[in-house]
Amino acid sequence: MWATMTQCTDRCKRQISFPETIDELFRLQQQHPDAHLMAGGTDLLVALRHGPQDTRATICLERIDELRRIDELDDGSVSIGAIATFSTIARNALLQERYPLLTQAAATVGGPAIRTMASIGGNIVTASPAADSLPALYLLDAQLELRSAAGSRTVAIAEFILGPRRTMLQPGEIVSRIILPPFTGWSIQRFEKVGRRKSLAIAVASLAAALQLAADGTVAAARFAWGSVGPTVLRCAEAEQALIGKPLSEETLNAAALLTQQAVQPIDDIRATADYRLSVAGNLLLRLAA
Ligand SMILES: Cc1cc2nc3c(=O)[nH]c(=O)nc-3n(C[C@H](O)[C@H](O)[C@H](O)COP(=O)(O)OP(=O)(O)OC[C@H]3O[C@@H](n4cnc5c(N)ncnc54)[C@H](O)[C@@H]3O)c2cc1C
Repeated sequence: MWATMTQCTDRCKRQISFPETIDELFRLQQQHPDAHLMAGGTDLLVALRHGPQDTRATICLERIDELRRIDELDDGSVSIGAIATFSTIARNALLQERYPLLTQAAATVGGPAIRTMASIGGNIVTASPAADSLPALYLLDAQLELRSAAGSRTVAIAEFILGPRRTMLQPGEIVSRIILPPFTGWSIQRFEKVGRRKSLAIAVASLAAALQLAADGTVAAARFAWGSVGPTVLRCAEAEQALIGKPLSEETLNAAALLTQQAVQPIDDIRATADYRLSVAGNLLLRLAA
């Protein structure tokens, strides 16, 4: 039964397993219900290194090919396997064509070495307010497929994230894939991020923006989602509405920026003050000026 599965131990005598199928993974989880799941390890290994000694088993997802696939579905949606890395996502031609917002966000995560390891599923489950994939996934109305030995369920990303580093994932459940509904007609799709430096920077504030323009160049529809300015991703319907029927000018974007600043509840932390975040959240919108 375990013929395809490799097991070893690390320096901390932690048992590490490498299942190659989802069924093997669930069997292992039943044997070790408190085991850590690991995709790229860029969050988990940092947490283990800085936390108290922890000898729980680790189950690695990296050899489960089914969790890596990026496919177009019959209804025009696109499915992204949870262990797809940000470097794969940033380079994927289908995603670049359909969801440039997401590929731009993927290309800003960490540096090249981090992007080669870091998975989109790990980014979602860590649920950091500064996670770069989340504004795009909220804006795109991403659905998450959650699987366990008992079956599967699908939830919207906005329901899945309960707060900073809190999700509705239950013990024995994994995020298996992310499903992006069709997203046509959004001719402008942009991800903007401000960090403390250009590379390897965690966002001080970020913005995912998508716009549909009418034939006369005015805004027909707008969607915005900000990251890193509150406990979870912020949507601001007032700012979106304020642009409808207006040209994409500095003046109209300024008006939308003011509405955004009223909705944002940023925090002070080591990366930036709340006041700085407030002004950056508004200013990011001005980058969309035609
Ligand atoms: C130097 C550095 C720079 C970084 N820069 C950025 C940045 O700019 N932007 C950004 O957003 N993030 C950044 N990160 C954070 C990190 O790289 C991301 O959050 C990454 O996407 C996590 O994915 P992973 O595969 O490494 O997850 P892991 O570390 O393997 O797992 C993270 C958590 O998710 C769980 N998990 C993983 N996959 C699944 C799954 N499929 N189902 C259920 N649970 C799962 C794990 O059990 C663990 O609790 C940075 C990290 C480092 C170390």
